[in-house]
Amino acid sequence: MQMFEVGTWRLNVDVTATEASYARMAGSHADGCNLVSCANFVANREDTFPEGAQRELETLGVPWRKEVYVSHTGGIAVGLYHYQGFFMLVGEVVEQRPAQGASSEPFHWIAGQVPSANYAHSFTTMRGVPYFASPAFNNKVPLIRCTFTASIPWIIDAEYAGP
Ligand SMILES: [Zn+2]
Repeated sequence: MQMFEVGTWRLNVDVTATEASYARMAGSHADGCNLVSCANFVANREDTFPEGAQRELETLGVPWRKEVYVSHTGGIAVGLYHYQGFFMLVGEVVEQRPAQGASSEPFHWIAGQVPSANYAHSFTTMRGVPYFASPAFNNKVPLIRCTFTASIPWIIDAEYAGP
């Protein structure tokens, strides 16, 4: 276990066990999904995660191209499509300090704060695994769930199919 300070969170993460869990996963949710909304997420992936978020997830042992789950949740007013998904980490949230004004790191989604960038993520401890869609992590307790939200354009030829 190793302690990390990210945004307003202090995380105790087993990086080795996290990496090993992702190695057991065949691939990301979206890569293995036949919904056109997931195909659009895959097409946008390289431009969706800010560099700071990529580096942070990699430091924590999370391959950011291998989300455990993602789904399209709806369109938003400016013509972007909103997605929510998550990564799992072996470990737990030790502390979340109260947010002091706006976060200087826009990819950190502080509880109760609407993210202003097109990407945000936050961390919560999950107990009581197994959790659906993450069999690679089922023997690990506790887990951190890193929830992300992203607003991205529709860039594939296949037609948007709702909701
Ligand atoms: Zn899907």
